[in-house]
Amino acid sequence: MNKTTLRSTQGHTFKVTGQLNTLGGQCSGLDLAVREGGSGTRYVVKWLIKGHQDEIARNEILLKMTALQAIPQVLAPRDIVRDGNRVGIVTPYLECGMTIEELLQNPRSVREHMVIALQLAHLVALLEGLGIHHGDLSSQNAMLVLVAGVPRVFLIDLDNASGAGLPPAMMMGGEFYAAAERENTSNQPDASSEAYSLAVMLHELLLGTHPFQNDLGLTIEQARRTPWLYDPNLAARQPYGLPPELLHPALVDTFRATLQPDPALRTPAARWREILRTLVADCRLAFCAACQMPFHIHSGRSECPSCRLRFQRAIVTAASQRLEVPQSLMLGRDHCGNPSVSREHVWITRRGPELIAEVRSATSPTWLCANGQWRELRAGEVVPLPHGASLRLHDSEFIVE
Ligand SMILES: [Zn+2]
Repeated sequence: MNKTTLRSTQGHTFKVTGQLNTLGGQCSGLDLAVREGGSGTRYVVKWLIKGHQDEIARNEILLKMTALQAIPQVLAPRDIVRDGNRVGIVTPYLECGMTIEELLQNPRSVREHMVIALQLAHLVALLEGLGIHHGDLSSQNAMLVLVAGVPRVFLIDLDNASGAGLPPAMMMGGEFYAAAERENTSNQPDASSEAYSLAVMLHELLLGTHPFQNDLGLTIEQARRTPWLYDPNLAARQPYGLPPELLHPALVDTFRATLQPDPALRTPAARWREILRTLVADCRLAFCAACQMPFHIHSGRSECPSCRLRFQRAIVTAASQRLEVPQSLMLGRDHCGNPSVSREHVWITRRGPELIAEVRSATSPTWLCANGQWRELRAGEVVPLPHGASLRLHDSEFIVE
């Protein structure tokens, strides 16, 4: 008989408010919606299959891990309820949550997907720091809530978690996310297999396609054992998703290292987090003038990663001289013969399709005219140089073509 109130092993009371079966990844089958008697906070109760002692033990251990309980974005069990001989796990309820898999059906912007990727890497790295391997990382087991339009990511379903004194993982993980070595389930999840699953999720998020999707007729098992199929260095290119070249080269390198069968060579979640954090903070996107494809700005680029349009050669003219800027150029006295201009006056570098100027002279003034407005630049100031801009070093003028 189903009760309307459930008591937990921690002494809490939960009032049953309904049955859940349509909440995407968070719930399935006979899960219950409940409210905690005192606070009224909403939770989900998921019944365990009878006789699974390891499952009960796993949840009891997770419940006692205060460092894990302190991470609000990992939906670990918060309590355990019993009803006769049934055992139920209480986890927080996510209001208006969607799985990452659902997000991928209606993707958001390149930048938002970067932020979501960073949060995922952060959560996996946090678990790793506690010695816990999720064991079933997938786009079905990560959820997203938009708070005032800002994405907040949650990891759910720690049913297969291992490490940190937990019972061994029961299954290999999702077949589209598990690393090759996990096919043998006596190989328990570790930092390397977790990094592999994380990289599959990030591939879906950042390139809009699953890394196993291929034109080569490979099975899932074969795809797990190949080098990264979307590597821009490979001659046989996969036609799905976004071109991997649009990513910053640091991300391309990290996908190459992680989505391959050798566990020892993969990049761990904490390093993914570091790379993504730098890119989210610093990365700027440019849009191809011809095909409008967005891409990460990087000094190594000379063409659009999608349509291969060559960027216009940025040329600075000084008097009658035309100076090409292949990668960088120190602009100064030698280019105009004016002794009032510093020898190393402005350092110009190319960042993909853009030119960036950094003022090096502290003794001779520098002026920039962009969009019809002149202003003086301070020593140390870094500014983009748009096409048509004028740069005045003391009283010598340079024009950006
Ligand atoms: Zn293009």
